[in-house]
Amino acid sequence: MRFSTRAIHAGQAADTATGATIVPIYQTSTFTQTSPGEHLGYEYSRSGNPTRTALEVALAALEGAAHGLAFASGLAAETAVLSLLRPGDHVVAAEDLYGGTIRLLTRVFEPMGITTSFVDSTAPGAMQDAVTPSTKMLWVESPSNPLLAITDIEVAAAVAHNAGALLVVDNTFATPYLQRPLELGADIVVHSTTKYIGGHSDVVGGAVLLNDTGLRDSIAFYQNAAGGVPGPFDSWLVLRGLKTLSVRMRAHCENAGAVASFLDGASGVEAVYYPGLTSHPGHELAARQMPGFGGMVSLRLTGGKETAHAFLRSLELFSLAESLGGIESLASYPADMTHASVSPEERERRGINGLVRLSVGIEDIEDLLADLAGALDTVRRGQR
Ligand SMILES: *Cc1c(COP(=O)(O)O)cnc(C)c1O
Repeated sequence: MRFSTRAIHAGQAADTATGATIVPIYQTSTFTQTSPGEHLGYEYSRSGNPTRTALEVALAALEGAAHGLAFASGLAAETAVLSLLRPGDHVVAAEDLYGGTIRLLTRVFEPMGITTSFVDSTAPGAMQDAVTPSTKMLWVESPSNPLLAITDIEVAAAVAHNAGALLVVDNTFATPYLQRPLELGADIVVHSTTKYIGGHSDVVGGAVLLNDTGLRDSIAFYQNAAGGVPGPFDSWLVLRGLKTLSVRMRAHCENAGAVASFLDGASGVEAVYYPGLTSHPGHELAARQMPGFGGMVSLRLTGGKETAHAFLRSLELFSLAESLGGIESLASYPADMTHASVSPEERERRGINGLVRLSVGIEDIEDLLADLAGALDTVRRGQR
C-alpha cells in the first residue's frame, strides 16, 4: 500500500465486535476479564486501549516503522525517548530546536546528570566535533524551528553510529509525508502529533516511531510505567486527522511556496526563510531529502521587534497564536512566544530575535496573500 492508502487503512480495519467502519472511541479505563489474567488483549487503558492501538499502527505505517507508540504530547514522547539515557550520558543536539525540547534537555534532564551540547547541525563536522566518549544520542530537527535550517539526516546518522550512539529525529515540521528519517538511517523518530499529523489544532499528542524491538520495549515500558498516554478521544482525533495528511501537506506546501515567493523581495521584508527558495542555504539538501518544502515560512522585517509586533497585530486571517500545522494560518513571534524560554543572548546569537514565523494554512492563497500585503502596507504607513 502507498502512503495515502496506508493513512486511511493501516490499523483501521472494521471493528470486529460491531462492524463499525471507523475505529470506535473505546472510552473505557478498564476491560472485563473472563478469568483472572484471561482477557482479549486489553486490561487497563494506561497499558493499552484499542483506539490508541489503531493510532499507533497507523503512525508506524506512515513512517515506515516497525513500531509506533503514542503519547499525551510531543514532549511526553520526547521524555520517553530520553528515558533511555542514564546519569553521565551525553547528548549532541542541534541548536535550532523547538524551545520546549531545549527546556526539557537543560532543565529536566541536565539536573539528573544527562548533559547536552548544542551545535549548529548544518555546519559540516560540528556534530562530530561535539561527540565525546559519553555521547549516547544525537538529536536533530529538520526543517528546524524557527529558522527552517536543514540538517543532512544521513550524515547525522553516520556520526551517531560511528560513536555508538542513537540518532533521534524530531520529524514534526516535515511529517512522514515529506520525510521518513528511519529510511535515511535515523534510529528513532519523534512527533508532536499536535501539529500537522493531527492537523486541525484541536488536540495535543505525541508519538515515537522506530524499528528496533529492544528499544521499542524499553520505551513502551516507560510509556506504561510513567503513564504519559493519550486518552481514547485524543487518540481518535489524531487518527481522524492523519487520514488526510497527504492532501493537506500538498496544499500546505503549495500555499507556503506562494507565500515565500510573495514575501521574498516585498518592500519592508528583510529576509525570508523557506527551504523551497533557491536562496535558502539548505535548499539543495532539502530538495534531495524531501519531495516538498513544507508549510512553515519565517521572515524578518526591516525595523525589528516593534515593526514585527505591528505586523502581527495587523494580520486578520493569520491568527496570532503559538503552535503550527493546522488547516488555519497562524503567525507568531518566537522570541516572545515559543522560544521565550531561550535566553535573550542566545536568541540574539542565533537570529531568533525579530523573527516572525508563519504556519501557512490551506485557505485560498489569494486571501492569504491579501492579508500579508495588507499588514505590510499598514506597517509601512505607520513608519512614514
Ligand atoms: C510542538 C512541538 C513539540 C512539542 O510537542 P507538544 O505536543 O506541544 O508537547 C516538539 N517538537 C516540535 C518541532 C514542535 O513543534
